[in-house]
Amino acid sequence: MSDCIFCKIVEGSIPSTKVFENDHVLAFRDIVPAAPVHILVIPKRHIPTMNDVAPEDAALLAEVLLTAQKIAKEEGIAESGYRLINNCNSDGGQTAYHLHFHLLGGRPLGALLEGHSS
Ligand code: AMP
Ligand code: ZN
Repeated sequence: MSDCIFCKIVEGSIPSTKVFENDHVLAFRDIVPAAPVHILVIPKRHIPTMNDVAPEDAALLAEVLLTAQKIAKEEGIAESGYRLINNCNSDGGQTAYHLHFHLLGGRPLGALLEGHSS
Protein backbone atom coordinates (compact mmCIF):
# COMPACT_ATOMS: atom_id res chain seq x y z
CA MET A 1 0.00 0.00 0.00
CA SER A 2 1.61 3.21 -1.22
CA ASP A 3 0.93 5.49 1.77
CA CYS A 4 1.59 2.92 4.49
CA ILE A 5 4.71 3.58 6.58
CA PHE A 6 5.28 -0.09 7.38
CA CYS A 7 4.92 -1.11 3.71
CA LYS A 8 7.63 1.48 3.00
CA ILE A 9 9.79 -0.13 5.70
CA VAL A 10 9.17 -3.54 4.07
CA GLU A 11 10.16 -2.08 0.66
CA GLY A 12 13.22 -0.39 2.18
CA SER A 13 12.26 3.15 1.15
CA ILE A 14 12.09 4.08 4.86
CA PRO A 15 15.04 2.81 6.92
CA SER A 16 14.62 0.59 9.95
CA THR A 17 16.74 -1.38 12.34
CA LYS A 18 15.84 -4.90 11.28
CA VAL A 19 15.98 -7.73 13.76
CA PHE A 20 14.56 -10.53 11.58
CA GLU A 21 13.34 -10.94 8.02
CA ASN A 22 12.08 -13.77 5.84
CA ASP A 23 9.69 -13.92 2.86
CA HIS A 24 6.59 -13.30 4.98
CA VAL A 25 7.60 -11.57 8.20
CA LEU A 26 9.70 -8.57 9.21
CA ALA A 27 10.74 -7.45 12.69
CA PHE A 28 12.38 -4.11 13.44
CA ARG A 29 13.05 -1.90 16.45
CA ASP A 30 10.39 0.65 17.39
CA ILE A 31 11.60 4.19 16.74
CA VAL A 32 10.18 5.36 20.12
CA PRO A 33 11.01 2.48 22.45
CA ALA A 34 8.76 2.10 25.50
CA ALA A 35 11.02 -0.54 27.08
CA PRO A 36 14.66 -1.71 26.73
CA VAL A 37 13.42 -4.23 24.16
CA HIS A 38 10.68 -2.84 21.88
CA ILE A 39 10.41 -4.59 18.57
CA LEU A 40 7.57 -4.53 16.04
CA VAL A 41 6.78 -7.83 14.32
CA ILE A 42 4.72 -7.50 11.14
CA PRO A 43 3.52 -9.55 8.19
CA LYS A 44 5.12 -8.17 5.02
CA ARG A 45 1.74 -8.25 3.28
CA HIS A 46 -0.43 -5.22 4.01
CA ILE A 47 -3.21 -6.16 6.44
CA PRO A 48 -4.59 -2.97 8.04
CA THR A 49 -5.83 -4.21 11.42
CA MET A 50 -6.50 -7.35 13.44
CA ASN A 51 -10.11 -7.06 12.18
CA ASP A 52 -8.87 -7.71 8.65
CA VAL A 53 -7.15 -11.01 9.42
CA ALA A 54 -8.99 -13.78 7.54
CA PRO A 55 -9.10 -17.51 8.32
CA GLU A 56 -6.77 -18.13 5.38
CA ASP A 57 -4.19 -15.87 7.09
CA ALA A 58 -3.92 -18.28 10.03
CA ALA A 59 -0.53 -19.67 8.98
CA LEU A 60 0.84 -16.16 8.44
CA LEU A 61 -0.43 -15.01 11.84
CA ALA A 62 1.16 -18.05 13.47
CA GLU A 63 4.44 -17.24 11.75
CA VAL A 64 4.31 -13.67 13.08
CA LEU A 65 3.68 -14.90 16.63
CA LEU A 66 6.35 -17.61 16.45
CA THR A 67 8.79 -15.00 15.16
CA ALA A 68 8.05 -12.88 18.22
CA GLN A 69 8.66 -15.92 20.43
CA LYS A 70 12.01 -16.59 18.72
CA ILE A 71 13.12 -12.97 19.00
CA ALA A 72 12.18 -12.89 22.69
CA LYS A 73 14.58 -15.80 23.25
CA GLU A 74 17.32 -14.14 21.19
CA GLU A 75 16.90 -10.82 23.01
CA GLY A 76 17.19 -12.62 26.37
CA ILE A 77 13.74 -11.72 27.65
CA ALA A 78 11.94 -15.06 27.27
CA GLU A 79 12.53 -16.10 30.88
CA SER A 80 12.23 -12.67 32.53
CA GLY A 81 9.04 -12.14 30.55
CA TYR A 82 7.59 -9.89 27.92
CA ARG A 83 4.38 -8.48 26.56
CA LEU A 84 3.10 -8.98 23.02
CA ILE A 85 0.56 -6.30 22.12
CA ASN A 86 -1.67 -5.62 19.17
CA ASN A 87 -3.49 -2.29 19.17
CA CYS A 88 -6.64 -2.34 17.03
CA ASN A 89 -8.32 0.83 15.73
CA SER A 90 -8.68 4.09 17.61
CA ASP A 91 -9.83 2.92 21.06
CA GLY A 92 -7.05 0.34 20.93
CA GLY A 93 -4.52 3.10 20.30
CA GLN A 94 -3.54 2.01 16.80
CA THR A 95 -1.61 4.68 14.91
CA ALA A 96 0.06 2.63 12.16
CA TYR A 97 -2.57 0.86 10.07
CA HIS A 98 -0.49 -2.15 9.03
CA LEU A 99 -0.92 -5.12 11.35
CA HIS A 100 1.87 -5.30 13.93
CA PHE A 101 2.64 -6.78 17.30
CA HIS A 102 4.73 -4.90 19.85
CA LEU A 103 7.26 -7.14 21.62
CA LEU A 104 8.10 -5.35 24.87
CA GLY A 105 10.43 -6.48 27.62
CA GLY A 106 13.61 -5.90 29.57
CA ARG A 107 11.86 -4.21 32.51
CA PRO A 108 8.80 -4.93 34.67
CA LEU A 109 5.86 -3.74 32.62
CA GLY A 110 3.27 -3.53 35.38
CA ALA A 111 -0.21 -4.94 35.61
CA LEU A 112 -1.94 -3.34 32.65
CA LEU A 113 -5.36 -4.85 33.23
CA GLU A 114 -5.40 -5.57 36.98
CA GLY A 115 -8.06 -3.66 38.89
CA HIS A 116 -9.49 -1.83 35.90
CA SER A 117 -13.19 -2.01 35.23
CA SER A 118 -13.64 0.65 32.56
P1 AMP B 1 0.57 1.51 17.21
O1 AMP B 1 0.31 2.75 18.02
O2 AMP B 1 0.24 0.23 17.88
O3 AMP B 1 -0.06 1.63 15.83
O4 AMP B 1 2.14 1.45 17.04
C1 AMP B 1 2.84 2.08 16.02
C2 AMP B 1 4.29 2.08 16.45
O5 AMP B 1 5.08 2.32 15.32
C3 AMP B 1 4.64 3.15 17.49
O6 AMP B 1 5.16 2.52 18.67
C4 AMP B 1 5.70 3.99 16.78
O7 AMP B 1 6.72 4.43 17.66
C5 AMP B 1 6.22 3.03 15.73
N1 AMP B 1 6.81 3.64 14.56
C6 AMP B 1 6.26 4.63 13.80
N2 AMP B 1 7.10 4.92 12.78
C7 AMP B 1 8.15 4.09 12.89
C8 AMP B 1 9.35 3.90 12.14
N3 AMP B 1 9.63 4.63 11.04
N4 AMP B 1 10.24 2.96 12.55
C9 AMP B 1 9.97 2.22 13.65
N5 AMP B 1 8.87 2.35 14.40
C10 AMP B 1 7.97 3.27 14.03
ZN1 ZN C 1 1.22 -1.59 4.90
